[in-house]
Amino acid sequence: KPRLVEDEDGGVIFLSSSYSSSSSGYGYVSIEKQRQRLPVYKYRTAILYLVESHATTIVVGETGSGKTTQIPQFLKEAGWADSGRVIACTQPRRLAVQAVASRVAEEMGVKLGEEVGYTIRFEDISNPDLTRIKFLTDGVLLREMMDDPLLTKYSVIMVDEAHERSISTDIVLGLLKKIQKRRPELRLIISSATIEAKSMSNFFLSSKRRQALEGEELRPRLEPAILSVEGRGFNVQIHYVEDPVRDYVQAAVSTVLLINDKEPPGDILVFLTGQDDIDAAIKLLTEEARSNGKNSSGLIILPLYSGLTRAEQDLIFSPTPKGKRKVVISTNIAETSLTLEGIVYVVDSGFSKQRFYNPISDIENLVVAPISKASARQRAGRAGRLRPGMCYRLYTEEYFLNEMSVQGIPEIQRSNLVSCVIQLKALGIDNILGFDWPASPSPESMIRALEVLFSLGVLDDDAKLTSPVGFQVAEIPLEPMIAKMILSSNELGCSDEIITIAAVLSIQSIWFSARGAQKELDEAKLRFAAAEGDHVTFLNIYKGFLQSGRSSKWCHKNFINYHAMKKVMEIREQLKRIALRLGIVLKSCETDMQLVRKAVTAGFFANACRLEAYSHGGMYKTIRGSQEVYIHPSSVLFRVNPKCVIYHSLVSTDRQYMRNVISIDPSWLTEVAPHFYQQQRHNPTIH
Ligand code: ADP
Ligand code: MG
Repeated sequence: KPRLVEDEDGGVIFLSSSYSSSSSGYGYVSIEKQRQRLPVYKYRTAILYLVESHATTIVVGETGSGKTTQIPQFLKEAGWADSGRVIACTQPRRLAVQAVASRVAEEMGVKLGEEVGYTIRFEDISNPDLTRIKFLTDGVLLREMMDDPLLTKYSVIMVDEAHERSISTDIVLGLLKKIQKRRPELRLIISSATIEAKSMSNFFLSSKRRQALEGEELRPRLEPAILSVEGRGFNVQIHYVEDPVRDYVQAAVSTVLLINDKEPPGDILVFLTGQDDIDAAIKLLTEEARSNGKNSSGLIILPLYSGLTRAEQDLIFSPTPKGKRKVVISTNIAETSLTLEGIVYVVDSGFSKQRFYNPISDIENLVVAPISKASARQRAGRAGRLRPGMCYRLYTEEYFLNEMSVQGIPEIQRSNLVSCVIQLKALGIDNILGFDWPASPSPESMIRALEVLFSLGVLDDDAKLTSPVGFQVAEIPLEPMIAKMILSSNELGCSDEIITIAAVLSIQSIWFSARGAQKELDEAKLRFAAAEGDHVTFLNIYKGFLQSGRSSKWCHKNFINYHAMKKVMEIREQLKRIALRLGIVLKSCETDMQLVRKAVTAGFFANACRLEAYSHGGMYKTIRGSQEVYIHPSSVLFRVNPKCVIYHSLVSTDRQYMRNVISIDPSWLTEVAPHFYQQQRHNPTIH
C-alpha cells in the first residue's frame, strides 16, 4: 500500500469559482441564483461587448467557471440566435456534449431537442426549425461543413475546450479561419481552461493582418480579443507517494479507503484511464469496502466514461445524500470537460489513454501514457471547488518535478491522418501540407495517409478524391477503412452482414465487463465464437439478439451489454439509411463467410499480420511494417492463432495487442491492394 506523504510546500493555489461557500454545498438554490454565482456571470457584459466588436474572442477560465453552460445563453439573450440563426458550441467529447446540452436545457426550462439541442455522431437531438443553441462534437461540425461549407446557419461558433487540442478541434480551427475571411459577420469564441491564449491569438492573426497591425493602421476588430475569467482560489494541498507505485488501480483503491477512513466528508474523484481499469477499480473497491466493515458503508461508487447511459450520467451529477460519500472513478473527461460539484478529494493516477502513431511502422494505438504537468494541475484543481481540498498523486514528487512533460502533444501530431486527409479533401482543400494548421502534422504521417487512401482507391494519382468511391467514402461518417469495407460489401453481396459489423465496431464493446467473472464471460463468448474471428462472432451475437426478441434477459444471461446492443441497432439503422442514399442495396450472403472476410480485407488490408511464431502466445508481425503484435485475450482467436489475420485496432500495454481480429487468406491482399503490397521492402512475398 502506498504511504502518503504530506508536503506543505507542494500545495498549489488554484483559481476556482468564488461561489458556493456554504459548508454543506447543497442547500436549495434556484437555478437562476446558481447561474449568477458562476464567475463568468460578472463578465457577461464584457463578453457580449467583445463578441460584438471582434471577429474572434478568446475566453480563458478555470474549469467550472461557467464558460460552456453560460456563454451560449448570454449570446442567445443578446439576440445572436434571432431570425433563425443558431449558436453553436463544440466539444471534443460526446459525453460532454450530451451532459452540457441537457444542463443548459434545464437551466432555460426548455425541452432538450427543441430550443436547446445537440448532435453527436449517430445521435441528433436537435430540430432544424426550433434549435437556437446547438451543442455538437467538433467532428460533427466538420461533417456539417461538407453540406454547408460556410456554416451559414451559425451566427456564433464557440470552439470549446480548445486547450485539449484534439485532432478535430485543430482542423475546425484551421477551417474556421478560412470561413471567417468569407463571412465577416461570423463570430468565433475560442474557449480554453489554460492559458495558451497568446499563441491561439497569433494563429487567428494571419501574417498579413499582423503586418497591418504593426503598421500605423490599427484594426482592433481583427485582432482577437482575449478575456480571462478570474475566480477566487481555494487551496489544494498536494500529497505525493514516497515510492513509485506498481499498480495504480490498487493504489487508487487503497487511497480512496484511506481518505474515507481518515478525512472529513467530501466526495472523491479518481482519475484512471479507461473502462477496463475503472471497472477493475470499482470491483476492488466494492470488495475491500465490504470486507473493511462499517466505515465504508457510506460510499457511493460511480464510474464515469464515455458510453454511459443517460441514467448513469444523471447519477454522477446528482447531489450526494447526507451522510454518504460519492466516489467517482473517471477517465480524463472529468479533467476539464465536466465539472462535478462536491469534490473535495482528487486521486490522480498520473496516466490517461492516449493515441500514438508511428509513421515509420504505420502503427497507431491507444496507450496508457503519463499525463503532462498541465493535466496534473487541472486534475488537482477539481478538488478546490467548494472549499480547500486535497489531491493525492500516485507518483513521486521527484517524478512530477523532473520527469513529467510540461504540456501534452497536440493529437494531430500523434495520430494516423487518414480520416483527417479525406475530410479536408472532401472540403476541397487540396494542398494539405500547406493548410494553415494550429500545429503542423508531420510530413511522414501525411505521406502515409495519402498512400493508404490511394490504395483504398479513394484518391487518384493527383491526390484528388476519386469518383464515385472517394466521394462515397467521405460521405460515410465512419473511418475511411470501414467506409471502404461497406462499399466493397456491396460488390461482394454481403452488405447486410457488413453493416452489422460496422455498427458493432463503432461502439466500444458489446460485452458486459466481467471483472472477476472472467470464466463465465469466456464461456459466454464460446457460445457465439466463430472460427473465422471476432467480426463473424458479432454476426452470431446479433442474430441471437434478434431471435431473443431483443431481450435484456437474454443479454444478461450471455454477458452481453444490453445498452450496447440497443446502440448497435440504432447505428445499424442509420448506416442502412446512409447506404441506401449511396445506392447500396442491402443483400445478405447467408452463410458464405468468405465474402464477409473479403469485404473486411478490402477495407483493412493495411492492418494485415502474419503469424511468426507459435511460442509466447502466438507472435505476429504486421506484413507492411514488420512490427511485433499479439492477439488480444478478449478475441475469440486468442490462442487459435490463424496464419494470417487482419485487426481492427491495436491497444498497447506490455505488448501491442490486436483487438477484433479476423482470419484471412493472404492472397486476397494483393488482390484488393496491389499497390500497397507490391512495394514491399521487408517481405518481397507475402505467401
Ligand atoms: P466551464 O465550461 O467553465 O468548465 P461549465 O459551464 O461546464 O463550466 O459549468 C458550470 C456549472 O454548471 C458547474 O457548476 C457545473 O457543475 C454545472 N453543470 C454543468 N453541467 C452540469 C450537468 N449536466 N448537471 C448539473 N450541473 C452541471
Ligand atoms: Mg466547459
